[in-house]
Amino acid sequence: MQDKAASKQELLHLIHTIYARGWAPATSTNYSFRNPEGNTYTISRSGVDKGLFALDDFMEINADGMPLPAWAHVKPSAETGIHTTLYKNPDIRAILHTHSPASTVLSYLRRGDLSIPIQGFEVLKGLDGITSHETRIEVPLFDNDQDMERLGDRIQATLPNYPRSPCLLLAGHGLYVWGKSLTDAKRHLEVFEYLFECILRMEGKSLI
Ligand SMILES: [Zn+2]
Repeated sequence: MQDKAASKQELLHLIHTIYARGWAPATSTNYSFRNPEGNTYTISRSGVDKGLFALDDFMEINADGMPLPAWAHVKPSAETGIHTTLYKNPDIRAILHTHSPASTVLSYLRRGDLSIPIQGFEVLKGLDGITSHETRIEVPLFDNDQDMERLGDRIQATLPNYPRSPCLLLAGHGLYVWGKSLTDAKRHLEVFEYLFECILRMEGKSLI
C-alpha cells in the first residue's frame, strides 16, 4: 500500500486529468481515498475549481464525515456522507465522483429505472474481477436527492443487490465510482465513461 503523500499526489494528478476531460465543471465533484493508518479518509474540500486544485485543498475526515482536528475550520463537501457510506465496505479504498456529460445525460434519460444493465462490451474486462465481455453488469441508479442522509440510507440498503458494479449513478447528477486503489478507481471510471458514451451513441444521442 502506498503512503498518504504518494496517494495525495496520485489523486491530485487524477483530479486535474478529470477536469481537463470536462468531467468536473464549475467547482463540482469530489474525490477521496482511505488513509493507510485506519478508519479515516482524505477527501477533496468543497468549492475548489478542480483545474486549480492543490495539495492543500485536501482535508481529512473520520468515519462519520467530520473533519479531523487539523481541518476543523474547513467545510466538508455536502456529499461527504456518500463517501463515508460507501467506505463501510472495507474493500473500497478510493472513490471518485464526477459530473460528466455522458453520466449526467444517460442517468437523466433513464431516471425512474432501478438500474442500467450493460453486457457484451470488451471494455467490461477493465473492471476488477471481470474476465469476459459476456458478463452482465447492472449499474444501480438512484433519484437525485439534496438530503444526503436519506440518499446515503438508500444507497446503503440497495448496493448489496449490485455486487458486481463498482459504481452508481445519481439521475441527472453524475457518477460515483470506486476501487481497491486509486489506480483501480481510475480504470473503472474510464470504463464507465466510455460505456455510457457508447450507449448514448447507440441510442442516437451522441454527445460528440
Ligand atoms: Zn455531485
